[in-house]
Amino acid sequence: MKTLADYPNFRQQAYIDGSWSDADSGATFAVRNPATGETIAHVPDMGAAETARAIAAANAVLPAWRRTLAKERAALLRRWFALILDAADELAAIMTAEQGKPLAEAKGEVTYAASFVEWFAEEAKRTMGDVIPTVGQDRRLLAIRQPVGVCAAITPWNFPAAMITRKVAPAFAAGCTVIVKPAEQTPLTALALMALAEQAGFPKGVFNVVTGDPVAIGGELTSSPVVRKLSFTGSTEVGRLLMGQCAPTLKKLSLELGGNAPFIVFDDADLDAAVEGAMGSKYRNAGQTCVCANRLLVQSGIYDRFAERLAEAVKGLRVGPGTASGVNIGPLIDDAAVVKVESHIADAVQKGARIMTGGRRHSLGGSFFEPTVLADVTPAMRVAREETFGPVAPLFRFDTEEEAIRMANDTEYGLAAYFFSRDVGRIFRVAEELEYGMVGVNTGLMSNEVSPFGGIKQSGLGREGSVYGIDEYLEIKSICVAGI
Ligand code: ADP
Repeated sequence: MKTLADYPNFRQQAYIDGSWSDADSGATFAVRNPATGETIAHVPDMGAAETARAIAAANAVLPAWRRTLAKERAALLRRWFALILDAADELAAIMTAEQGKPLAEAKGEVTYAASFVEWFAEEAKRTMGDVIPTVGQDRRLLAIRQPVGVCAAITPWNFPAAMITRKVAPAFAAGCTVIVKPAEQTPLTALALMALAEQAGFPKGVFNVVTGDPVAIGGELTSSPVVRKLSFTGSTEVGRLLMGQCAPTLKKLSLELGGNAPFIVFDDADLDAAVEGAMGSKYRNAGQTCVCANRLLVQSGIYDRFAERLAEAVKGLRVGPGTASGVNIGPLIDDAAVVKVESHIADAVQKGARIMTGGRRHSLGGSFFEPTVLADVTPAMRVAREETFGPVAPLFRFDTEEEAIRMANDTEYGLAAYFFSRDVGRIFRVAEELEYGMVGVNTGLMSNEVSPFGGIKQSGLGREGSVYGIDEYLEIKSICVAGI
């Protein structure tokens, strides 16, 4: 069997100013396989000093990089895109080893991650400005769009590839340089993507990956006046902290934070489609995505049938290591994740919820958990307010459309929402009333590179992907040419 060391893009060093680098101290930290608990790699445990060097490198190359033609940056991104797709099996294997998701899902993520690189290679050439009708005969007015400058990206472990490409591809397309700090659980996918970018021919300093202490690296990235923008995906708590840290230097911010997605099933829904949608939205990545259905709100007339059918489908899911064939649910990322899932279930059961299937740690041990369906859940339970981030579907009951909308919006979060209905009037009413950045109607999966991804309220700021995503990395400059 292949080991990680056999993969050509497996790296155990960070990448600063065009060089594979160790920590100044020589220190490393271990990366573990969540399916086995084994240590699979050691990567540099860097801090502020190495980060400062990466920032300096990104700043030094910026004047030359921002002047390259959009067409040249597009060509470079296209080469990276092709290399990512060619290495898809390898990237998927590395991702499953450090993150746990089933191989097929990992490969799906690689394709999804690559789609942002392709999309923004295309968008690089379309950062149009405007010629504005003048206010005086002696002058002409223009608005042009220019790169923000040096950018920092701090990314999570649940999508180790896509959360990086969704940030760095538009940044490079716009003419920015970047320092990425990947999650400590999943640095290997980031470093493999970096290795492929090096082969694609990124100039030194344009793309840097720094691994190590989140507080020290994050502190340097956020306090540096050279860094003009931070794009972060992760928890609302850390997002708030980083926003505060960016205040003294007034950085541009993109924040993709937590969610508490409602998944509403109306009486008039297509039951098969609703069950299939719930399976995709809830159990993908073992429930560890910020757009996962967190609360399933089901109308009284269809509640029992939906609950039965969902529980039946969930019993058919196969739990196991992501490398085993036919597995749908891998391990949770770590024991802390399991403890949170357990505590949400215990709280719900203690307050009157009924376990229809699952509910316990899986017999495989480690951080494997049984996919779970809870019925008779009420707003008084913790699952109603907090993001579970695990394979637990809590079913709430409602009677009217107004009640469903009220329950759905009763949260400080506003990332993704889903609903199932066949009534065209209701589809427009409910889609417009839901206070969320993204709404899926009759589908549980809606992320792609062409649609804007992002939240409102305490789910964050800004949009990624789509024609809007590159705006996050561009400033608008107004030019007034007088004396004509
Ligand atoms: P999760 O709960 O999904 O791990 P986090 O918000 O803790 O979400 O982590 C997302 C990313 O933020 C990771 O790369 C992590 O290392 C980083 N991070 C966590 N705490 C800090 C911090 N205090 N400063 C900077 N980055 C941080």
